[in-house]
Order: sequence, then structure tokens, then C-alpha cells
Amino acid sequence: MTLKVALLGCGNVGSQVARILLDESEELAARIGVPLELTGIAVRNVDAPREGDLPRELFTTDAEALVDGADVVVELMGGLEPAGSMILRALGNGASVVTGNKALLAARLPELTKAARDGGAELLYEAAVAGAIPILRPIRESLAGDHITKVLGIVNGTTNFILDAMDTHGSQFDAVLAEAQQLGYAEADPTADVAGHDAASKAALLASLAFHTTFDLENVYCEGITGISADDVAGAAEAGMVIKLLAIAERTTDTAGNEGVNVRVHPTLLSREHPLAAVRGAFNAVFVEAENAGELMFYGQGAGGAPTASAVMGDVVSIARGLSTGAGGGSEAQPRPTRALGIEESTTRYSISLEVTDETGVLAEIAGIFARHGVSIETMRQTISADDNGGQARLRIITHEGREAALASTVAEIEQLAVVEAVSSVVRVEGK
Ligand code: NAP
Repeated sequence: MTLKVALLGCGNVGSQVARILLDESEELAARIGVPLELTGIAVRNVDAPREGDLPRELFTTDAEALVDGADVVVELMGGLEPAGSMILRALGNGASVVTGNKALLAARLPELTKAARDGGAELLYEAAVAGAIPILRPIRESLAGDHITKVLGIVNGTTNFILDAMDTHGSQFDAVLAEAQQLGYAEADPTADVAGHDAASKAALLASLAFHTTFDLENVYCEGITGISADDVAGAAEAGMVIKLLAIAERTTDTAGNEGVNVRVHPTLLSREHPLAAVRGAFNAVFVEAENAGELMFYGQGAGGAPTASAVMGDVVSIARGLSTGAGGGSEAQPRPTRALGIEESTTRYSISLEVTDETGVLAEIAGIFARHGVSIETMRQTISADDNGGQARLRIITHEGREAALASTVAEIEQLAVVEAVSSVVRVEGK
């Protein structure tokens, strides 16, 4: 018995997967129990120069024919189409699929997982979240007998690189973004990263596996880091905190007491004591809280050809072992219907910076609005602006936990006060 593997795409990740399949075929056969045969590599241009010494005869533009003869299809083309059709075709044939395509998965997860179940095949995508870090398999398998209560992830290396550089050098967002583009950490069009869309796709996947359901992008609240200024980062540092873009998924209840899951991506203030605060540069990490296991953290490289290929190959070997022994995979039997709760139902803390008129009664007026909305203040710090001519002050308020809806309406009312010149920033806070 030989298992036929079709590879779709030979770019950053695909070329590394092809290299491992060809160079380490003997060792892989020993680990799996049967050999894997790379039957072909589908690309757009068969004549393009390729990294490594890959046999020319493997390349084809006929992805459909390649898919039809395969036991396992590895999709590393990216994009929504033709990747989506190819995956559905493979699953429809009963072939299992490995993909790293977070954008496609987050857009069509319910449909794709159903196609896998209907085809009696597996769909694995460890590489789609946090690159090399083994996080989806631990959630799906190792924690399958536990109750995950919350997942917090730094799952986008570009934004972590930018926020870390702003924290270390005190630079402005635009300057650091330009540097990240020069170093190859950010794309020429950085929107998917800095607007939070890439992290939101990963949040949908993490939430789906952690809470045994199928969420897609529509269930994820998303706010990027473009509004974060050097002042915000410096203010955080003064308070012993750091700003990270977090993907957060947590089990919670709405105001009526109904259980559900809230999934969100936004810049977040964390104490420097929190394990995620120590994640520097373009690294990724995912922090998991489970009822019995307690706190767990997974850390490593979130992107790159070889690191991501490591995650892809883990899925390929897992599927191949199942096929060689007839044991089947570890896919969830049936996703559970779970209510996705909107951001307004989440419970969080706010850090609010205000420019106010420096006169008697201002603090009492602001504190009164907090009290009316049932939001309690943890700390309030007043500083006189350096360029002050005697009439302006900056207030930095950190709240206790409250419903997002109450916090947001508090800020909206404060903005209307005559004594408030500007609400210069509002950043949510996680942890103690
Ligand atoms: P890439 O470098 O852009 O490579 C894409 C490959 O797919 C190329 O070989 C391209 O062929 C081929 N391709 C694209 N459209 C095709 C089509 N219509 N028909 C046939 N072949 C087609 O992409 P990548 O960086 O390797 O990423 C692949 C996937 O992994 C994406 O879903 C990405 O989100 C995911 N991922 C990447 C990373 C990373 O660090 N790069 C990390 C995690 C996940 P040509 O070579 O002929 O153009």
C-alpha cells in the first residue's frame, strides 16, 4: 500500500512541504507504516523558477486531475478560489485534506466541515492558526475531555512586531509599519494584518475548535491597531502594561443569562506580568484556560515556509497513520449549536484617556456618569499636559469589569461633556 499525496501550490509553504515529502520519504514511511508518494504539484506556471531541486515532471496546471487520483490533498494555494472548489472536490471523493488557508476556512468552515463528514474524510488545518505552533491538535485532542473557558492569542506576527517596536523604541505606528514592510514582516498592502482581519479568521477557527462548534468570520468582532498611537503605548508603559492585538474567545452569558461564546479581536492592554506580554517581535502565542487543566501557553513562530510546513506535515502524517491502520481520524462527530454573543455582551475593562479642562468639579462630573451607567472606576490618574498653559489636563481612567454595552455608553456620554476636549483613546484591558 502507498498513500498518494497531491500538493496544490508550491510557494513559501508548498515548496517546503514538497522538500520534506521527497527528502524524508524513508523516515516518514517508517513513522507512518506505509510510504507516501507525492504524485504531483499543481501551480499556475509550471515553468517558473522554484526553490530547491524539485523534479520538473511533478508540476502540472491540472489541479482537478491531481485531486481525483489522491488519498490526501494538501492545499497550499491560498485564496478563496479555486482552493475552495478543490477542497470540496477532494472531500467529495473521500480524500482527506490538509490546508493552511485560514481565509477560506474562516469564510466557509461550516460548509467545509460538513463536506468532510459527508465524505467520510478528514479536514485538518493546524497551519492555519499560529504557523508552526501546535495549538489546534492540543485543543481538539489533548483537551477533548476538558472544558475550555477562554482562549487568548497573539496570532498575527506583523501586528505583534509593530506593537513591540512601538513599545521598545517609542516610535509612531506609520514609521514602524514602513520598517516592517522593509524587513518583510508586513505586506505591501498591510490591511489584512493591521485591520485585524487575519487575526479574526484565526479567532473564528480557534473558537470553533475550543467550543466544539463552527463559527465563521461573521461571528467575530474585529478592531485593528491602526488607531494605536505612540502616546497610547507610552501611557500603557507608565502603567506597567503593554498593548497587544489579541484574538479572544470566551464562554460567557448574555444579560438574560443565556450561555454563549464571544469571539473578538482588538488591541488589548495587558499587565507586563501576563505571559503573553513577553511575546516579542513577530512571534505568536496562544494562552488557553480550561476548567481542569488550568492555564496553558503555546509559543513559537507564527509564519514562514519551513515552520508552517512543519505544521502541515504533522497533519499529513496524522491522516496517513489513520488511513494505514483504518483507525480514522480525530475529527469532531457533530459540531454543537452554540450561540455567538455580540461584543456588547462581552465583559471587559476599559482604559480611557481624556483631555479635559482643568477646573473644579470636572472629576466629580465624570465620576457621576460612570456611576449612572453602573461602571466602577478602578484607578483615575490626572496629569497636567507638558505644553499646558494652565487650562488643560489629561485623565487616564481604568475601570473594573463591566458589560461592553455599559462601558461604551459611558464613553459616549462623557464625549458630550463640555469640559471634555477629547477622548484620545479607549483600549480594552485583559487580566488582573
Ligand atoms: P504563495 O507563496 O503565494 O504560494 C501560492 C502557490 O499556489 C504558488 O505556487 C502558486 O502557483 C499556487 N497557486 C495559486 N493560485 C493557483 C491556482 N489558481 N492554480 C494553481 N496553483 C495556484 O503562498 P504561501 O505563502 O505558500 O501560502 C500558502 C497558504 O498557506 C495560504 O493559504 C496561506 O494563508 C497559508 N499560510 C502561509 C503562511 C506563511 O508563512 N507563508 C503561514 C500560515 C499559513 P505559482 O507558483 O505558479 O504562482
